[in-house]
Amino acid sequence: MLAMAAATAVGSAALGIASPASAHAAPGSSGPVVSITFDDSTADQLAAADVLERLGLRATFFVISGHIDEPGYFTRDDLDRVARQGHEIGGHTVLHPRLAEVSADEARREICLDRTNLTEWGHEPRVLAYPFSSTAPSVEDSARSCGYDAARLVGGLAARDSCVACDKTEAMPLQDPFSARSPGQFDPTWTLPEMQTLVLDAERTGGGWLPLVFHHICDACEDNAVGLTQFSAFADWLAARQAAGTLTVRTASEALGLAALPLRETPDVPFGAPPSSPVNPTLEDRGPDGRPVCWTFAPSGVNTATVAAAPGRGGGSGAERITVTEYRSGDAKLLPTMDLGDCAPAASEGHRYRLATGFQSDAPVQYALFVRDFHGSWSYWTSSPFFAASERWDEARWVTPETPPGTTALSFGLALTGVGSLTVDSTTMTPTVDPFPPLSGPRALAIAAISGAAALVLATIGLWVRRARRTAH
Ligand SMILES: [Zn+2]
Repeated sequence: MLAMAAATAVGSAALGIASPASAHAAPGSSGPVVSITFDDSTADQLAAADVLERLGLRATFFVISGHIDEPGYFTRDDLDRVARQGHEIGGHTVLHPRLAEVSADEARREICLDRTNLTEWGHEPRVLAYPFSSTAPSVEDSARSCGYDAARLVGGLAARDSCVACDKTEAMPLQDPFSARSPGQFDPTWTLPEMQTLVLDAERTGGGWLPLVFHHICDACEDNAVGLTQFSAFADWLAARQAAGTLTVRTASEALGLAALPLRETPDVPFGAPPSSPVNPTLEDRGPDGRPVCWTFAPSGVNTATVAAAPGRGGGSGAERITVTEYRSGDAKLLPTMDLGDCAPAASEGHRYRLATGFQSDAPVQYALFVRDFHGSWSYWTSSPFFAASERWDEARWVTPETPPGTTALSFGLALTGVGSLTVDSTTMTPTVDPFPPLSGPRALAIAAISGAAALVLATIGLWVRRARRTAH
């Protein structure tokens, strides 16, 4: 515990994180404490971080650590820069699942491993935000046991047109720190006066905590975005209110009185270890939505692709048919769900794996492969050569190259890369040290005979060397 705190303190010093004191806070100000929080660590939030820094305001950024360095998200450098500006870094899981809908073990991995990533990168995550506000008592327990002191929901407080009879602010100290409420999230339909009204309503309550939830900061780019111009105007206005002493802007952990506490340790939580082959390989096991458990339909690029249940090999159920009707780029495929251990088959670095998938198709198909690293982050790895279209059930067999350093799991599936239809059924993945099937017949006998002769020759040489040495002595 102490060792961890010390190590983290060194990490923060190395990043040169500024003192989070807000320069413009009016002494003795009363009113609510407002926290500006950003979810998802998307790259467009960097401009908002700069705006706030210039105003002397500090925000909390809830980071998806498994997406760091991916296009459209913060890079590691961005994360360091935001922290150096004095903003707070909070946790938002590794891969952003609905925590109440995955297994309790998976939820714990998502929360703990994310916190480990962030602390290893020199940050001090004290507060968590549940992705999609999805939580459950077991998830709250995991947040606590992973070392967090509080966790934020989206919703529960009064907002423009939802929960109008709800509280305007959270009373402090929080009654349930792992269900901290907020007035929902902002989206492009919110006007500046409406955002200001939310804050003015909180001011009228005389106190409490008002965490504001932002996602993308860009003009009409996403359905949960606020434009940068509007955000900047709102931030100007908040700074002015703070200067007038009607409210205080603080990071989430400052607002909750957690910032000065020693950072709690994150327990070491390993990846899950499902069988080293995809779970639900024959797609028979179906969830409440009728989709195969542990499999995800993953179209990419610009195309029109659908997936539906289809008759399996031999007339049984449990196959899935992918259909691409319009195609410009990318592909369409069904993959073992890329997670931290419930579904995706575990794999080790430097190993080769034999893949096999039953399929029918009217177009050539190829395997697309993805690897998970030790941070829990997934990325595209490689693709196989194409397999010819096959109207009858066939099996696509391929042995992968050696997996890259740091590999902890694989996800793979046959992909359509053009207009057509592909039905997939049973899938297996087998670790192999010998990527080629054992030989049989006359060729195998010939090789055995040659090997035997070679062994005899080597044994004879060895005997001769030993004799020669004995003679020399
Ligand atoms: Zn999110």
